[in-house]
Amino acid sequence: MSSTSPQSHPDRSPRYDILFQPVKIGPVTAKNRFYQVPHCNGLGYRDPSALATLRGIKAQGGWAVVCTEQVEIHYSSEITPFIELRLWDDRDIPALARMADAIHEHGSLAGIELAYNGMNGPNLYSREVPMGPAHLPVATFTHEPVQARRMDRKDIDNVRRWHLAAVRRAQAAGFDLIYVYAAHGLGFLHHFLSRRFNDRTDEYGGSLENRIRLMRELTEEAKSAVGARCAIPIRISLDELQGDAGLTHAEVEDMIGLMAEVPDLWDVTLAGWENDSRTSRFAEEGHEEAFTRGVKRLTTRPVVGVGRYTSVDRMVGLVRGGVLDLIGAARPSIADPFLPLKVQEGRMDDIRECIGCNICVAGDFTQSPIRCTQNPTMAEEWRRGWHPERVRPKGSDRGVLIVGAGPAGLEAAQVLGKRGYDVTLAEAAKELGGRVAMEARLPGLGAWIRVRDYRKGQIDKLANVKVYLGNRLGAPEILELQHAVVVLATGSHWRTDGVGRVHTKPVPIGAGADVMSPTEVMAGSLPRGRKVVVWDDDHYYMGGVIAELLADKGYDTHYLTPASEASTWTRATLEQHFIQTRMLQKGVRIQTFRALQSIHRDHVVTSCVFTGFPESIPADAVVLVTARWPHEELASELRERQIEWRDAGISSVSVIGDAYAPATIAHATYAGRRFAEELDGPLQSGDEVPFRREITNLSPLDR
Ligand code: ADP
Ligand code: SF4
Repeated sequence: MSSTSPQSHPDRSPRYDILFQPVKIGPVTAKNRFYQVPHCNGLGYRDPSALATLRGIKAQGGWAVVCTEQVEIHYSSEITPFIELRLWDDRDIPALARMADAIHEHGSLAGIELAYNGMNGPNLYSREVPMGPAHLPVATFTHEPVQARRMDRKDIDNVRRWHLAAVRRAQAAGFDLIYVYAAHGLGFLHHFLSRRFNDRTDEYGGSLENRIRLMRELTEEAKSAVGARCAIPIRISLDELQGDAGLTHAEVEDMIGLMAEVPDLWDVTLAGWENDSRTSRFAEEGHEEAFTRGVKRLTTRPVVGVGRYTSVDRMVGLVRGGVLDLIGAARPSIADPFLPLKVQEGRMDDIRECIGCNICVAGDFTQSPIRCTQNPTMAEEWRRGWHPERVRPKGSDRGVLIVGAGPAGLEAAQVLGKRGYDVTLAEAAKELGGRVAMEARLPGLGAWIRVRDYRKGQIDKLANVKVYLGNRLGAPEILELQHAVVVLATGSHWRTDGVGRVHTKPVPIGAGADVMSPTEVMAGSLPRGRKVVVWDDDHYYMGGVIAELLADKGYDTHYLTPASEASTWTRATLEQHFIQTRMLQKGVRIQTFRALQSIHRDHVVTSCVFTGFPESIPADAVVLVTARWPHEELASELRERQIEWRDAGISSVSVIGDAYAPATIAHATYAGRRFAEELDGPLQSGDEVPFRREITNLSPLDR
């Protein structure tokens, strides 16, 4: 399967050469083994040029294959409110062709994941009745009160015809790999494969042969349509992790065995998406290996699989060990679109490793352009002209002082340094990292330290960036340092008055009550006594993780939240189920729909959010996970002394990141990047939209 000897590079260890061998995929050839598998992005049909540019940059970064996300093939199966690509008719071809062209420009292969979602799509936009193998409620993330109807023979024939038409359109758009999508419980083929959904007694239900019949038909039809021009991969999930209730590993291996040589490539995953894209809190790199390990013995076709791989030695091991032919990556390619090129050039320490936080996934769930904690240029390539590796040279010789080396300050420092500015980075603590240095010590969040480590590594190489640790700066010191540009990235701390998302007014706290916030817990303080209440009015990961930490330390931990479940926003990062399971397994008592009335020395008073019915809960201490205070004192002090700026040579003072308004780590790296990208750029009045956007072409009003 691999042929000619790979091009070596003087700075690359020869042991990595194997990753640069070409791999034949049916009639096409991938130039190396780096394969960007399909991934959603919240851009889709709404932002096709932004998306084409995003994919083009992946190709530029060396990925041999760059794929779309799932592409809806027909109006009778669409997944509104989620925003994916569409190939409903010929009018959708140009947007997709733009992407294929952008990928081809860099010598990579373009892959398209054609999807008929069936009972995964409630059809909120088209208002067609969804179809699936059985009469069952639609199986979507949004729990629409809609049922799919059981497909009859004519429906099956229709979908086969629609799929074939989409294959032809994909080919016309220029794609080299055209997927048959049967994975993740998202494509309708998955529903036919799984006994969980398929209760049919006709030739499409029952035996394995019957359940794979439609997948076989679509694959064979696609292959004969594309001839020798395109490859036809199948994407399938090796296990639904539901035991005998769903697809089992053994069953899927048998299915692959039955169709071993039919597709040109096997792309193997786990189902559902939450199992495939597990966060680092719940799975190590390579967690799918136990499943993918056996696939290659079933087929001579190349196999691609994922596992949040960022370790290059591990990748080599996978190929050498006969586990995979191609290293699949969604998140590692988002965090670092240039990962392959960096490996190729032997620049391992420049790789920006994914931290496994799934903020990228949240873009899909919030129908917003994909964000990445590690790569703040994600989805800004076209609309703001940012590039993950290239920055424009500095626009002046002004010196920059950055106060605070959290994610915002570090990102600003490394980008401004690369632009050529003289940068001084002052940090009060004895280590770099700000909140990530602290949060990475919490249970399961160790990989988050990569946010600091990547940036530290880059800064270490820049002679024009000077770092001063253990330096808490006040206004007098800042004025004395005489830097023209002052950036305050001084972060935030958690509040201790109970003000959060639901309670926007302080909660009464009685005398002698032991009240703490995550700031103190992360600094090493522990609550007194044995019984502790964790009050979560933040709703992201912090409340759950603090409860987990206290349970680990032997506290009798009671978690209260006004939400309907623990850490509810983590649905958007595919973690909620895992978080609540782990909390329960660790003995945390979870009580939802609670309001917090008051806190006392030995108890808290809560009430039901619906009835107001009060309940007293014994507590020796309370940890409030609520809102945060931005550190804005320094900014106000400097503002008060603005008259002294001119003598101090200061031309601007800006506040970025959590110090401006607390948010996620991804928001902080973004804020740092934005400041660094825009310094000495065109002035922004705020009156005009500061980024490009694609405006719908108006159609005539009359039919
Ligand atoms: P962000 O997420 O916005 O980057 P963080 O809270 O992670 O914010 O980081 C802020 C950093 O700023 C912390 O490491 C903190 O120690 C540092 N810091 C805060 N105030 C000062 C100051 N006056 N001088 C130097 N460093 C400061
Ligand atoms: Fe990785 Fe987080 Fe970036 Fe997603 S957002 S690619 S999980 S670092």
